[in-house]
Amino acid sequence: MPKISLVNKDIVQFNRRTVSNNRSFVMSLRSSPRVIIIGAGAAGISAASRLVENGFTDVKILEAEDRIGGRICTRDFGDGIVDLGAQFCRKDSIVYNLVKDFNLLETRRIDTHVYHSKCGRLQDGFVKILLDKVYDLYHQKEQAENVEWKQYLMEKFDEEISDHFTSEPEKSLARDNLDFVKKQLLLVTGSVCLNSVYGAVSGEYPPDFRLIWKSHGYQSLLDILMKKYLNTESTLQFADKIMLKNEVAKIEWGDENNVRVVCENGSQYFADHVIVTVPLGALKKQHKTLFYPSLPLRKQKVIESLGFGTILKVVFYFPTKWWTGNDFQFAWGEDDLNCALEGEYSWVTNCMGFFQVSNNPNVLMTWFVGNSISQIESCVDDVLLNGAYYVLQKFLGGTFDNISKPIKLERYGWSSNRHFGGVISYETLESKSNGVTGETLAEVVVSKNGSPQLLFAGEATNKIGYGSVNGAVLSGFREADRIINFCK
Ligand SMILES: Cc1cc2nc3c(=O)[nH]c(=O)nc-3n(C[C@H](O)[C@H](O)[C@H](O)COP(=O)(O)OP(=O)(O)OC[C@H]3O[C@@H](n4cnc5c(N)ncnc54)[C@H](O)[C@@H]3O)c2cc1C
Repeated sequence: MPKISLVNKDIVQFNRRTVSNNRSFVMSLRSSPRVIIIGAGAAGISAASRLVENGFTDVKILEAEDRIGGRICTRDFGDGIVDLGAQFCRKDSIVYNLVKDFNLLETRRIDTHVYHSKCGRLQDGFVKILLDKVYDLYHQKEQAENVEWKQYLMEKFDEEISDHFTSEPEKSLARDNLDFVKKQLLLVTGSVCLNSVYGAVSGEYPPDFRLIWKSHGYQSLLDILMKKYLNTESTLQFADKIMLKNEVAKIEWGDENNVRVVCENGSQYFADHVIVTVPLGALKKQHKTLFYPSLPLRKQKVIESLGFGTILKVVFYFPTKWWTGNDFQFAWGEDDLNCALEGEYSWVTNCMGFFQVSNNPNVLMTWFVGNSISQIESCVDDVLLNGAYYVLQKFLGGTFDNISKPIKLERYGWSSNRHFGGVISYETLESKSNGVTGETLAEVVVSKNGSPQLLFAGEATNKIGYGSVNGAVLSGFREADRIINFCK
């Protein structure tokens, strides 16, 4: 991956100021407390950068994978890079504000053409009304108390269609696009099925995320957090404190003097404060064995009752570029869908469509949503290459006579990897009725003498922007600030 060698004057000055402002504060710290951060994703790196910037010298990040970034995962692929995890950014968010001076983002302006399995390309005006309805439903859902998404959609969909389409053929075509609408909602809620999802309205509607990284990918954010963009003098000295392939197996807390953290590989560490940024999906699998003593019941309840959904992104490389300058989304008519579900490539019905990747001319990316993700993740590459070719021919074969079969692909098995267990968190009817939210997950666990021993960060813990990198970064800063304030 190309290294970015930008030097930003303003940020250098900002750092100098911060360092000198911090000096007196550092002197007033009781001593440098020992902080261990579990997980080197956006939340972990943000927490570490805030602590190091504030003079904390004894900070370690233990990461289970062999790389940093967590659900930010930028890879070389094709003729450029691809982001297999987070990709989009929203204007005026914390991520935007952190990187805006570096000229790394651009607005994605690519039109989407929607193809129906029976009727071919749908008219743009028709699609716009459908998508506007999804947007309205998404926002109105906040007012619908104690109703899960599936029921809400089934009740509202017909009502909304009757209001907005007048002719019978249009109404009927709209009804035949229910699967298309469901997929939009699966993508924005991040859930595998709409049955148990309560809200998932994080206040950040994913289609508002229109900014993409020009050529260095989301990895750039991590470099900026670690100040790698700047001269070496300013680079935060914690990169060497990140321990990769150190999966934490046990966190022993409650003792007044120490939290003991033991890794799968046998290494052990002692800390005054531990910031846990393990994804909710992994916490669901790990929490019963990870913490000793067990977490307070309220904390266990929130871990178990919040939802953690999944989606899968696959990028395909084609020997020739056969498409034109737009994205393609697929809408299965009800009959075709039922028929395809019986066939060899039933899982392709979970494919949203194919999308262009900037600065990577021969690559198209697809999103899979719905309940076949684990099955798709376990498919060997050849099966996925054949399935992609099949679905492209099915929907676009009548428009393009030169579709080539992709020859290679790249993906990351978020759902099957036990360090993640999925992609993003959402509220469920159960969490709602238990009266717990991501903020409950963020509640600090203190030792007998009142010291914040276990702190929780990560996207699932932040009220604003949960499910996104924004939420993760804010949560990392939040927990670092909690320790900084405690040590004052
Ligand atoms: C495919 C996909 C697309 C997305 N698209 C977007 C997008 O466009 N825009 C957006 O804003 N967000 C997007 N997101 C969501 C965003 O990536 C996440 O919300 C955010 O990166 C989460 O950061 P985090 O630090 O909370 O968790 P993570 O990044 O998951 O970091 C947690 C870390 O903990 C580690 N870990 C787990 N268990 C252990 C253990 N026992 N010991 C040590 N380490 C452990 C994991 O390996 C991981 O590195 C997307 C996510 C995915 C997967």
